[in-house]
Amino acid sequence: LSVKSLKLVKDRLKQRPEELRKAKEAGATIIGWCGYNVPEEILYALGFIPLRLAIGGDDRLVEIGSRYISTRNCVFTREIVGFIEQNTDEFLKTVDAFVFDSTCIQMYRVAELVEFFFHKKVFILGVPRHFDWAEGQEYFAKEAEDFTKKLSAFAGTKLDLQKLSEAVDLYNGIRETLKQIYEYQAGIGNVITWEEVSDLIHAGYYLDRKEYLGLIEQVLEELKTLQKKIIIDKDDGDARIFLSGSVIPPGDRKLIELVNAVGGRIVGDDVWTGILPYLDVHIQEKTVNGVVQAYLNRTPHAALPYMDLATDRRVKKQDELIETSKADGVIYYSLRYCDPFTFKAKETKDILAKKNIPFLEIHTEYAGSDYEANKTRIEAFVELLECRKLVL
Ligand code: SF4
Repeated sequence: LSVKSLKLVKDRLKQRPEELRKAKEAGATIIGWCGYNVPEEILYALGFIPLRLAIGGDDRLVEIGSRYISTRNCVFTREIVGFIEQNTDEFLKTVDAFVFDSTCIQMYRVAELVEFFFHKKVFILGVPRHFDWAEGQEYFAKEAEDFTKKLSAFAGTKLDLQKLSEAVDLYNGIRETLKQIYEYQAGIGNVITWEEVSDLIHAGYYLDRKEYLGLIEQVLEELKTLQKKIIIDKDDGDARIFLSGSVIPPGDRKLIELVNAVGGRIVGDDVWTGILPYLDVHIQEKTVNGVVQAYLNRTPHAALPYMDLATDRRVKKQDELIETSKADGVIYYSLRYCDPFTFKAKETKDILAKKNIPFLEIHTEYAGSDYEANKTRIEAFVELLECRKLVL
């Protein structure tokens, strides 16, 4: 690690399960959540300790999950089910209740299963399909109100608006700091890699949020001393790859390893376990509705239907991120039976083709059977990007 403060984050992560156990003994309630539009500020303001649950890369857990959910459900949801069924993870063991949202209907199905088979306390936040309609926003306001009421009853306390305001400030700080750190990974000199930033983002799923903000501020300060000016340049000789697609959660190293193995360099992403959920969160009003509408106004998830490509904010954001990261090409990563993102692959390919941006689709699962085949394809893609740099 060239950035020393990253080690501190890793060390704190190791100590965290024990801290959580102690916090529970002292009366804290821990909420594990999974989804895309879960407003963590509300959980935090109610006094819960939130943990974002995301896990990938373990085919054994996928197999276990498949006993409860269809094998035609996505690999990610199957692993989450297997993960909760096994309940051996040190963070997961501390969880008192679960929160899911219905952005992706496959995740909503997980919520039902967790309640039905494993008898866990589950809260679900309904998310409107038509997120851009006034009726959709009104529906979301009512859902959020009901969701908050149920969580308040579980917490045994009412939501204090002052605490919500403090939570919004804290989370705004986290989002802003991560955004600034993220810029460095795309810069010349590779002072911090995309992979390291991704791990840093994932650390924030588990650490105490106030402490996390302090830690990432420390990382940012160190980066500023290591590199005074960030220069993002297409002509740096690297095969610069933008990762698009569904999720690359903690534990899912397959694609990252493959890109590293063939000499490619990841310089940006728009996956939901990356920087994307932290971008464009503009909370106008520090109320429950103000928070949830800001979440809905971020880049929309592919599972939410939107039929007009010309005004699609998801496409626009992808465009902007590819441009700012100065990527040479895009690897579109989707997991087996992830319908929302698999359906969008062709659309993404066509849009990028018009801009003359090379595109490679990797549709896979966590089992290693296609490892060599994908390695060959990614290697050829990296060579293509390198050759284009020479001739363009
Ligand atoms: S978006 Fe894809 S990967 Fe994520 S839960 Fe839905 S189907 Fe699974």
